This record gives sequence, C-alpha cells and structure tokens, in this order.
Amino acid sequence: MSESSQSVIKVIRCIVCPTGCEIQVKQGQKGDISFEGYTCERGLEYAEQEYYEPKRILTTTIRVENGLLPLIPIRTDKPILKDKIKNALKEIAKTKVKAPIKMGDILIENILELGVNIIASRNLIER
Ligand code: SF4
Repeated sequence: MSESSQSVIKVIRCIVCPTGCEIQVKQGQKGDISFEGYTCERGLEYAEQEYYEPKRILTTTIRVENGLLPLIPIRTDKPILKDKIKNALKEIAKTKVKAPIKMGDILIENILELGVNIIASRNLIER
C-alpha cells in the first residue's frame, strides 16, 4: 500500500523513555492500522496498548467517616482501562472509609473486579 493511501488518525507521544518519539497511527483504505515513528519495540508495544486499550492510573479522593480530614487522596495500584474510569469513580463516590488510614492501605479491594485495588496516597489519623 502506498504512503498516500494511509491517513494519520492519531498521534501518540511515547513516554517509555525520555526520547519521547512521536508515533503516528495510520489507517489504510481497508481499515488496516499501522504504527510509524517508533524507534524501538518498546515504543511499538506502548503505542499499540495506548491505541487499542489505553490505561491510566486513577487518582481522586474518597470520603472518610471519622478522619481528621473529611477526604483522603487515593489512587489505583495499577493502571486501569480508560473506559472503566467513570464506573470506578461512581463506585468510589458511594464508598466511605474509616480512619486511621496508612499510606498504601487498600481501601477498596478489586474494584469492579478489574484486579486493581484502590489504595491510600497518604496517612490520615482519626479526629
Ligand atoms: S519509541 Fe523507544 S526510543 Fe522512542 S520514546 Fe519510545 S521507548 Fe524511547
């Protein structure tokens, strides 16, 4: 297939190393997807993951029943699929946890059965 029959449908900046290669996702006329601009296999893997199944670490806060502060910052212990973030936020909004809490404590185990835990990003003592 010639270059001109492909169009760039997305540009992904590789963040695997500081070089920061710009990877173009191209689509041919038959819908075939190809990647250009990466300079190593790790970059290709990153671009494929980012294009087909983008994941993010979710960071937010959760309510605390008896804490010195009413909220505590939390995050997922692994990246989760971007399209699950909205439902994960709903689940977190329904939850209230109890102090004292230590950084790294699991506050919601296996959220949405994704194999990912919600953990505390700091300590919080009781009020
Ligand atoms: S493609 Fe390879 S060299 Fe380029 S930023 Fe990604 S990891 Fe680094």
